[in-house]
Amino acid sequence: PVYDTLEEESEYWRTSAQQSVQEHTKLPKTDRRAKNAIFFIGDGMSLTTVAATRMYLGNENASLSFEQFPYFGLAKTYCVNRQVADSACTATAYLSGVKINYAMLNVAASVKRTTCEYDHEATEFKGLMQWAQEAGKATGVVTNTRITHASPAGAYASSADRDWEDDSEINADCPTTMDENKAKDIATQLVYGSVGKNLKVILGCGRRHFLPKETSDEDGKAGTRSDGVNLIDAWKEVHSGLGEAEYVSDKASLMEAAKTKKLDYLLGLFDSSHCLYNLEIDEQQVGDRKPKLTEMVDAALSVLEGSEKGYVLFVEGGLIDTAHHSNRARLSLEETNEFHKAIDMARKRTSVDDTLIVVSSDHSHTLMFNGYPTRGNNILGIGDISDIDGLPYTTLSYANGEGFSQTYVDGNPSKRIDVSNYDFTNYRQRYLATVPLSSETHGGEDVGVYASGPGAHLFSGSMEQNVIPMLIAYATNIGEEFGWVTNDDDHNHGGSEHDH
Ligand SMILES: [Zn+2]
Repeated sequence: PVYDTLEEESEYWRTSAQQSVQEHTKLPKTDRRAKNAIFFIGDGMSLTTVAATRMYLGNENASLSFEQFPYFGLAKTYCVNRQVADSACTATAYLSGVKINYAMLNVAASVKRTTCEYDHEATEFKGLMQWAQEAGKATGVVTNTRITHASPAGAYASSADRDWEDDSEINADCPTTMDENKAKDIATQLVYGSVGKNLKVILGCGRRHFLPKETSDEDGKAGTRSDGVNLIDAWKEVHSGLGEAEYVSDKASLMEAAKTKKLDYLLGLFDSSHCLYNLEIDEQQVGDRKPKLTEMVDAALSVLEGSEKGYVLFVEGGLIDTAHHSNRARLSLEETNEFHKAIDMARKRTSVDDTLIVVSSDHSHTLMFNGYPTRGNNILGIGDISDIDGLPYTTLSYANGEGFSQTYVDGNPSKRIDVSNYDFTNYRQRYLATVPLSSETHGGEDVGVYASGPGAHLFSGSMEQNVIPMLIAYATNIGEEFGWVTNDDDHNHGGSEHDH
């Protein structure tokens, strides 16, 4: 076992617990409203993922940046028609304050998924970003998935199906619907929609949904749109009429645009589909062209920081989830590590006196952290040996997924594979899975909610996920329609020490 020998002294634990008690009794509790809010979602970042990442950082007692925030709560993630949620109904809950049906975005649960024609006016809504824009705050969305993917789309789009990222997908699902009755695809809503159009910063990936099939992007990959519309050109045209606007497609131009220019609008799309995983960027040595999440958040803050009335920024660490779906635990822990670094940077760069940071996840995954491994054991390695079949098993495993084929000889559940020859340093290695599935599923238990800054104390206890955006709105004094009592004096206070 590897641990500090201090841990063998009872006094060490008593003293460190006492220090925590002292810190708890001094927790800031301010009723002052926040000028800015940054809302981070780690897609699929279950509590197990967080615990495993501590060890990936080097020690069981390590804390991720957001675990050091003073307030913590739990959110219930079910949606209206499913016990275990997807990223679209949860994005609607944590961004707009409404629980709806699985795989839909900002459309009331009275409408079923993939309904081609419905009363858009009566059933569609928007949330946090619209409230912020109406209050005069600058807004931004950052993700390392496609910007039209479920989580970021929840910030600006309403759609009866999360897969309607461009018109080709709507045409396939609704072949008989007349053009004038067709829903607007998600990419189109980002460029022309009431909320999308007003976003000051948009950074992510997924160029293909913005380009016609006949057009190639900066990496030579073709678009997927059928309507012949180049939405990147359309975005430039729309926004050049509104202020200083720039589109960037690689890291160097992103950094240059964010640091040296006074931009009103910034659109950055860095890949055809999802952005590359951190470990792929490293392996392919494309770090000079492809920004990582922390770099994107850094650039977004550079553009938003000057905003007179403050800003609301939504950030998704989206690849934690996609890695889990393929049972590739190392990939997922590295993405969680990157997410932790982005939050650390944002907290250090902003003031706890005027900027609320909330960190949560949309839903869990089926990852297990099990066995009785000794302290200091490699979190990605062998946890123990089974006393039944005498074969080793890993500390991390999944309830289902493609890792099934790495688990049993010829898929025979009574004959396990000896995993001691696997290369657990290779990020492509899939981890053990009990039930065979082409894509590992989400999990249904609660996710953590971590908060720091003005109003952070509101984010505690066990809550429904759809309460989160209401709390952010209250803490930042936006969302006039909810009738909070506005107190402008609150904005002018100095330090938090006056407000215990
Ligand atoms: Zn997922």
